[in-house]
Amino acid sequence: MRKTGRTLLQIAICTLAALFPGNLGAHNSNATPEAQTQKKNSKKITTRTEPLFGEKLKKVEIKSNKLKGACFYLVSGHGGPDPGAVNKYNGHELHEDEYAYDVTLRLARRLMEEGAEVRIIIQDKNDGIRNATYLKGSKGETCMGTAIPLNHQARLRQRTNKINALYAKDKNRFKYIRAIFIHVDSRSTGTNIDVHFYHAKNSKNGKRTATAIRDMFEAKYRKHNPKRGYNGTVSVHPKGLYVVNRTHPASVLIELANIRNNRDLKRIILEDNRQAMANWMSEALIKDYQGKK
Ligand SMILES: [Zn+2]
Repeated sequence: MRKTGRTLLQIAICTLAALFPGNLGAHNSNATPEAQTQKKNSKKITTRTEPLFGEKLKKVEIKSNKLKGACFYLVSGHGGPDPGAVNKYNGHELHEDEYAYDVTLRLARRLMEEGAEVRIIIQDKNDGIRNATYLKGSKGETCMGTAIPLNHQARLRQRTNKINALYAKDKNRFKYIRAIFIHVDSRSTGTNIDVHFYHAKNSKNGKRTATAIRDMFEAKYRKHNPKRGYNGTVSVHPKGLYVVNRTHPASVLIELANIRNNRDLKRIILEDNRQAMANWMSEALIKDYQGKK
């Protein structure tokens, strides 16, 4: 157990102010549905539309081309008939898949803003980016429009096959492709666990990208809350992870928190924390991509 002077929320708020000027949603309010490219203050603004982000956030202003040439497959864990890890907290039922999905969408939007191509593999057309603390569970998620099977193996095979089919076409078009899987862990209640990362055994690029994100989290915590410490690890999962091992592009699986630990939970239930994690991940991915070019 660590003692913390400040909560992650406080850190996240000051981080958000630094990383994300303006609140979420306000920055693309000049986008119009008709125009893909328009003039704003005599500067050319390009926007793209992603309805999965929800009505208010579906217009994405492309702010830079830092990630031009990079393609990401973003995959939130579980979904459809499988909520993943579940915990009761304050009278609410928390489902892993909903929180993982929200962070995944936030990451997708940040990467798009920097010019990346993003393929959102698990989708829920009814849930955009949500600000609530308690995200309502649903079974509406699909694998890019196809129903998700209940059977565990079939479910993992479905998303792996989808990614590999996309990769077969994308690999000649992009210089850098990564699959990122986002989960929330379930350990015993007392276990407080930092954001940690898995890569496939012999994947140099998977390890490199996982380490880039880990190091970014460490730097952010050190900067915003030096006393906290950060023990997030990068490793090969001892039992092996089907999706990480079988997807053809280099991949990273991220565990955000332990859903059964009350302190850890704050990292996923507070909207600002979900956004801060997405911001840190995207900043790390920019660094990783630029170092690779
Ligand atoms: Zn999971």
